[in-house]
Amino acid sequence: MSTFSNHNFANERALIRVDFNVPIKNGTITDDTRIRAALPTIKKVLADGGSVVLMSHWGRPLKDIEKKPHLTLADFSLKPIVAHLSNVLGTEVQFADDCNSDDAAQKAAALKPGQVLLLENLRYYKQEEKGDKDFAEKLSKLGDVYVNDAFGTAHRAHASTAVIAQFFPSDKRMFGLLMEGEVNAAENVLNNNQQPFTAIIGGAKVSDKILIIENLLEKATDIIIGGGMAYTFFKAEGGQIGNSLCEEDRLDMALQLLEKAKAKGVCIHLPADSIIADKFAADANTSSALSVEVPNGWMALDIGTMAIDQFRKVISDSKTILWNGPMGVFEMDKFQHGTKAIAEAVVAATKKGAYSLVGGGDSVAAVNKFGFADKVSYVSTGGGAMLEYFEGKELPGIAAIKTPNP
Ligand code: AMP
Repeated sequence: MSTFSNHNFANERALIRVDFNVPIKNGTITDDTRIRAALPTIKKVLADGGSVVLMSHWGRPLKDIEKKPHLTLADFSLKPIVAHLSNVLGTEVQFADDCNSDDAAQKAAALKPGQVLLLENLRYYKQEEKGDKDFAEKLSKLGDVYVNDAFGTAHRAHASTAVIAQFFPSDKRMFGLLMEGEVNAAENVLNNNQQPFTAIIGGAKVSDKILIIENLLEKATDIIIGGGMAYTFFKAEGGQIGNSLCEEDRLDMALQLLEKAKAKGVCIHLPADSIIADKFAADANTSSALSVEVPNGWMALDIGTMAIDQFRKVISDSKTILWNGPMGVFEMDKFQHGTKAIAEAVVAATKKGAYSLVGGGDSVAAVNKFGFADKVSYVSTGGGAMLEYFEGKELPGIAAIKTPNP
């Protein structure tokens, strides 16, 4: 495996798999974060004197058209990205309106150093998501070097994210800077961590996080469990949780996780107290209660002050921190305090030298909401891919780059 930073792209054509699946409304890009995130990788190739062929998916054209026949492929075009990308890149971007055509091959072959070509949506072809080998091989002809910079799709074994890598020798396939950052951050936390290593796991459902917790039992010294999922544990232990979230079919499993943790010497921290509400609403009446004594008719929607102190202490003593999932219904002001306090604790620990990674959906939204994104060590944009990484799964997009060719 070659590294992107050490590679000189002079006179080479880099075929870069990016994630340009950005929100587009009426032809206008409403959030260009993903485009900007890919710029350092593209710019490095151009600065070396190479050229760039960009490929991406956008939405789910074939599935959506099947369900809503008024839609056409044109509704899923990457074309609206061309002008914006040219603008932020400061270089005119060419477009091939079929990623699998002779036109695309000719345009790619004609690229001169410093030039950029964007291919139309890969998912116009069903072969992309099927991981079709012939389709991948044809795509591979569009570049001399394959660069995967789409961590968000690294958990899919699609033609452009995984299958294609085998058509390049190991020194001509590599992660881009964005993907390298994500992989390094995840590795720092899971496999090269300094102890104590605290994982903070929150969110609504314990069933979504079982595999992560099980994997972390092998790696972490402490696991903080907050958010709606905590109350399934309290109920399993015989607590009274009122109308708080509970997955009745997971009670046994919750007890088993606690037993396993004990056997492995991992400390599980559940919130001692909670902020409770008389309804699931921003204008609910609120009070506080021990998490095992939530009165009937009330539901726990945030962690309480004792829990914040309890968790803050654990976080402050940590050298490595992984955070996935909010501590409460942080979208409502009345129930955001616990999540904000934990974010502050993670920021403070980071300042003291801990390595902190925030990853996966809503915890990322939370650190962004509170303005802490640049005060933790790394904020993953990986979503589902990062969650699967935390679960200990091998991601096809990573394996394809790392594994030697047969
Ligand atoms: P997840 O996608 O599993 O990480 O869950 C995130 C969602 O869990 C957010 O929308 C939160 O509002 C919600 N959530 C967190 N804590 C609670 C709670 N105590 N009760 C109900 N929902 C919660």
